[in-house]
Formats: sequence, structure tokens, C-alpha cells
Amino acid sequence: MLKEYLKEIDRKQEKLCGLSDRIWDCPETAFGEFKSEAALLEFFKSEGFEVKEKVYGVETAFTAEYGSGSPRIGILGEFDALSGLSQMAGVVEKQAAQPGACGHGCGHNLLGAGAAAAALAVKKYLEDGHMGTVIYYGCPGEEGGSGKAFMAKEGAFQDLDGALTWHPATVNEVNKDSSLANFQILYQFHGTSAHAAGCPEMGRSALDALELMNIGCNFLREHMMDAARVHYAITDTGGYSPNVVQDQAKAIYLIRAPKVGQAYDLMERVHKIAKGAALMTETQEEHEFIKSCANVVSNRVLEKVLYEAMKEVGVPVYTEEEYDLAASYTATVPQAGSQTYEKIIADHMIPEHVKFLREKRKSRFYDFIIPYEEIHQISSGGGSTDVGDVSWMCPTAQINAATWAPGTPGHSWQAVAQGKSSTAHKGMLYAGKSIALAAMMLMEQPELLKEARAEFDQEFEGQKYIPIPEEVKPRAMNQIG
Ligand SMILES: [Zn+2]
Repeated sequence: MLKEYLKEIDRKQEKLCGLSDRIWDCPETAFGEFKSEAALLEFFKSEGFEVKEKVYGVETAFTAEYGSGSPRIGILGEFDALSGLSQMAGVVEKQAAQPGACGHGCGHNLLGAGAAAAALAVKKYLEDGHMGTVIYYGCPGEEGGSGKAFMAKEGAFQDLDGALTWHPATVNEVNKDSSLANFQILYQFHGTSAHAAGCPEMGRSALDALELMNIGCNFLREHMMDAARVHYAITDTGGYSPNVVQDQAKAIYLIRAPKVGQAYDLMERVHKIAKGAALMTETQEEHEFIKSCANVVSNRVLEKVLYEAMKEVGVPVYTEEEYDLAASYTATVPQAGSQTYEKIIADHMIPEHVKFLREKRKSRFYDFIIPYEEIHQISSGGGSTDVGDVSWMCPTAQINAATWAPGTPGHSWQAVAQGKSSTAHKGMLYAGKSIALAAMMLMEQPELLKEARAEFDQEFEGQKYIPIPEEVKPRAMNQIG
């Protein structure tokens, strides 16, 4: 019965794929996504949602809401791109559309439009006299911006009974992975300039301080937990003249650990190293908080509902041409590309699941659903996502849908090239339908939401969320430092 409402997605298929393609055509990075946001706003207004712009203190954040009362289900949409990844669509070789420009290397054009598809079908259900509210969150600045963490600090997501989202991928699965919490900090050193040969004793080098800080952090690695990560980018070396003692130097640090509290403690240790470097060089150190994001704590009750929905909707059917095209993209990826799939197999404990996955290893396209197992592994590396912050505000779960050929790495030219393909569109609509069906199943069975909330309360008992400090505002990457 509920599946009837998914037909709304089929009816509006062209409009939804057009929306995704339009966002692909104007790739914009964190907190500068004005055209992409405009495309989404236009869509939601035309579909009769109540739209609120510039919400939660973020210029390009918005909500699109429909319905009334409980339950309140949030659907998260992203739409930002990555710098330097410009690529022609549908071309099976690295070829920039505009050299040096941005590109949708993480498929957030699909993510935003697929999540919009889900909201559309749930609206249809609510129009039919069902109680509840669906809220689409237009979440900017996922890449390097932690947009959702900025939204969370202003109170977003807390009034939800559940939040659902998805990500483009090479496989169809419930994404139960954790992610690393992180803190991004700008460190600056101030010294005294002098002639580097004539009167070096008069100079105090900020660049020396920065180098010593980096060395100190490299020694720190031996004495931090295995899963933690510390990396830096030197953004200012104090000029390019070796005959001047550099009076200024800057680096952006990204400090990560499996849990937000662990990442916070590690950041405090990095602060001490920076202070020590300043002391050694008689320079001054200052640091500035740029952003942070929390680790994902996925909700098992919601995951199981998503898995049921994915099976119920059923994976799309592909043509021979689509399989062939996928195979040609896979052929461009070095051997290492299959590691993602091997990791998925390694994460499975039930023998028949492992057997099934091994049999499917050589598929030209992963046109099946990865079996769900309830065991959650603690993340031992990998990246971070600001979906983590949402997962600390309300029960949250996510799926991945196959939009890319096997082996396609995230943030690659192959991912950009496939972003407007028919397989990408099919995966996007499949994700939208699965999320919509899961949302409707939850609205039909409020006891599931109660269970999800109980799991959430138990999971976070005694744990403290560390919000981004009050005075810190979202900034585009090129405005930092
Ligand atoms: Zn992404």
C-alpha cells in the first residue's frame, strides 16, 4: 500500500533528474552554494513545501517542510562540490570541463535531489490524510565545512523523531559505519623579521616555530590511539625570500579520533605542542577554531527499517549498455579500487552473506543489496561527516545507493564523469524511494520511533556533545587564514 506513494517519484522522475543535473552543472564549494541552493528552493516551492531560507545561522542552509504534528521525520540533503575536480560528463577519461574549476566528486548533486525525491513521496502520503511532518534539511558545506554542525549548534535536528539520509556509492547498503570526529584549527606564529645573514640574532622565526610544531606532532603520533589522525596544510610560510627571517607562518590542522571527546583531548595536546614551539623560538602563537564535527552514531532500529525498505523497493534494472559503460569506468581504476568491496566482505560475519558477497565480487555493476548485519564496527580510520552531528541530536541512519561503477573512488574524476549518467539517476531515485518508504513505515508505526529513541538515549547516556564555540561562524575554505 505504502509503495503506491512512491509512484509520485516515477511521475516526477524527469524533474528530479533535471534538478540533479542542474546542480552538477554549477559546482560550488562549501558555503558558496548559491546557485545549487536556488535550484533546490525552486523545486520545493513549485511542489508546495513551506520553505525557510538562511536558517540556523548559515547563509545557504534552508528547510522545506510539509505536514503537521508528530511524528517529525527529517531528510538530509547536501549539494556542495569539491575544488579542482572539473570533469566532462560521460567521458571515460580524465578531461576537465574547465581546468581548475570545481566538480561534483562526491555526488552531492545526486544526494540533494535524491533526498528531495524522498521528501516528495512522503508529502504525497501526508496529503492523503496521514499525520506527521516531513522536513527536508538543505545542508550546505559538508566538504570541509561541517555545515550540519553549525546548524546543530543553533538548535537544528533536536525536535526530530528521526533523521534519514543517503550517499552516492558503488554499492547498495545500509551504511552502518561510524566516522571520525574532527576539529579543524588554524595555528599562527608571529616572530620578528631581520636580515637572515646580516643580523640573524635579531630575528625570531615564525617558520621555525611552525616547523617545530609539525615535528612535535609527528612525535605525538607514537603516543596517540591508532585510530586517531593528525594532518596539516601549511598555508603561509612567511614569504619566499630565504634572506629574510620569516615573521609569520600559518598551518591548518585537522585532528581526528573515533569519538568527539577523544578528538577534543588530542586537540588539547596539539595546542601544548604549538605553545612549546613558540617557547623554543621566542615567537608568539595563536590559534583559531575553524570547525568541528562529531562521529556518527547510527541507530539500529532505523537501520533495520531502511534495510526492509530497500528490499521492498527493489534495486533498479540496468541495460546492457549501462553494464558495459560501468565496466569501462572500472577499467580506468587501478587495482586498489576493489579494496572497498573487500572491506565490505571482511565486515560480514554470517557465512552465507560472505559466500553471497564473494560470488558477486566480479559484477560489472553492483546491482544487489549488501546483506545487513547488526554488528557495528568501530571506525579505525577513514573520513568524517557532519551527519555525525545530526546523529547526536536525534536517532539517525543512512544508506548508500549504487550510482557509480565498481571501484570508483570518491572525490575522483570518475565520480564526476558518472554524475549525470542514467545509472546515477537510477541509483538516486532508488535511494529516494527507499528513504521515503522507510519514513512512511516509521510514521505508520510510532512504536518503532519510540524504540529508536530508547536506543538513542541509551547510546548517549553520560556522553557530552561538544558544539562549535558560539563565536565561530561558517567560512568558505578560501576565507580561512
Ligand atoms: Zn560526500
